[in-house]
Amino acid sequence: MSTATPALAGGPSAAVRRVAVIGAGTMGNGIAQAFATSGFEVELVDVDPDLVARALGTIGRSLERVARKQEWPAERAPEVLRRIRGGASLDATRDCPIAIEAVSEDFALKKKVFEQLDATAPPSAILASNTSSISITEIAAVTRRAERVIGMHFMNPVPLMKLVEVVRGLPTSQETFETTVALAEKVGKTTIAARDIPGFIVNRVLIPLLNEACYALYEGLGTVEDIDTGARLGLNHPMGPLELADLIGLDTCLAIANVLHDELGDDKYRPC
Ligand code: NAD
Repeated sequence: MSTATPALAGGPSAAVRRVAVIGAGTMGNGIAQAFATSGFEVELVDVDPDLVARALGTIGRSLERVARKQEWPAERAPEVLRRIRGGASLDATRDCPIAIEAVSEDFALKKKVFEQLDATAPPSAILASNTSSISITEIAAVTRRAERVIGMHFMNPVPLMKLVEVVRGLPTSQETFETTVALAEKVGKTTIAARDIPGFIVNRVLIPLLNEACYALYEGLGTVEDIDTGARLGLNHPMGPLELADLIGLDTCLAIANVLHDELGDDKYRPC
């Protein structure tokens, strides 16, 4: 599949008006903003109320920038922001037909969050993970609804980036897949289907590139500016690999590189 799957006019995705987003960091904020901008009610959950308040502030400023750039009417940005309700308890998922997890890239943490989500979200709800590299099949195995667990991998920054990689674990049902694709399309994204192999498609290609740029710096091949300018002007990349690694977060890049190295077992993925 690529973009060929049509948006489902009716189907289960039509019933989805409310979305829970778990983790109010870089990605959770972007995912919440994208859904609220498309008219969904969003429950945004993080571990403590201060983090949630900070996230809502960040989203508010991001919406103001979008409003200026796209010349929205004055009332639209506050309206979008009001559709996002922040909280520090997973009880907020009780009325949500889908929960999208975007906590840090750590399997033990995701496992805990999915066990909790399995207990709080309605039994019919889809549980999606925004993981960059962790096995969806393994995440699904900690729940009692493995057929409704799926990877929904947004790109950073979510409001700007068009792609969502949809990753089926071994038990993921076709209905879950189709509903997830249709939802991604409702927030204006284009989807690709990826197999549940560490790194999926995008990070299997990207992380070795970023890692190699780190080795190039480590070995003194050039300065940070030389390496990034080389990729921008020599490869026509919009952003240098070191700048992109900083945007993603070096902790996240290292966590993904470790998954590729450990799971694929090939030394070519050795993190710098
Ligand atoms: P981040 O560190 O910015 O945010 C993670 C958030 O999760 C933090 O706010 C943290 O407080 C919260 N959190 C931790 N434990 C929690 C819990 N039990 N319940 C609720 N919230 C909890 O990380 P990020 O960059 O937003 O990445 C999140 C996920 O998205 C990771 O799986 C990452 O691999 C993936 N991802 C990241 C990028 C990127 O460019 N950063 C791109 C695509 C996917």
